[in-house]
Amino acid sequence: MVQLRELLQTSQNSLSLTALIDSALCVGAGGSTGSLADKPIIRAADGHLLIPGSQLKGRLRHECEKLARGLGWPICESPVPATMCSQIGLSDPAFQREDYTVRHQVFADGRSQHHCLMCQIFGNPALPSRIVVDDLVCQVTPDTLPEVLRPGVTINRRRRTAEDQKLYFLETSPVNVQLPFEGHIHLELDCPDYAKALILAALQHIHALGGSKSAGLGWLTWNIDDKTVEASAWEYLAGGNAA
Ligand SMILES: [Zn+2]
Repeated sequence: MVQLRELLQTSQNSLSLTALIDSALCVGAGGSTGSLADKPIIRAADGHLLIPGSQLKGRLRHECEKLARGLGWPICESPVPATMCSQIGLSDPAFQREDYTVRHQVFADGRSQHHCLMCQIFGNPALPSRIVVDDLVCQVTPDTLPEVLRPGVTINRRRRTAEDQKLYFLETSPVNVQLPFEGHIHLELDCPDYAKALILAALQHIHALGGSKSAGLGWLTWNIDDKTVEASAWEYLAGGNAA
């Protein structure tokens, strides 16, 4: 494992991120034990609070898809494999463009495969992802953080009243203490140049993470160490309608 980690560090560029949680955070996992809450907050093995990398990656993909479509690129429909490039790249002429071919990624008979901008960054069932999103881990020692339980009641949407016997408790991070959650997004060597530009732009559209956002939970601001992007990456992205 140690060797693998060293290998990863030398073969990647990475983006260092901090999410400063402005309100309280509720990234829960139902069915966890060890808490009085119905939906406890997720913790690393050593007790530190965390935001799962998978959740951030999913949000990033969604925001990048919106941006790329807005720039005129044909983008497949994730996350259902049947509507992603691994399938529709075979048949849809809109996807069979030169810049959707991926080097070294060909069928057994030598025909080239086609993968949209998103699949080239985030992957699909036939193409590995070129980025790795770490869990964002809260840097504050868990012993110093009180357990915060937030009561809620299930609402019957049709009758617009509270349901009987449906009181529940969410565990959140402490309120209004600007907890920093840190992690990295690793861009692998064969990751396309435009990936960093899209990811930085997408982060600006992610204002909250976790559940109960409309109840004011999970709102955040980002600190990003390196926002430099080659001008050529933006020029390339602007050319979605070409081809
Ligand atoms: Zn795709």
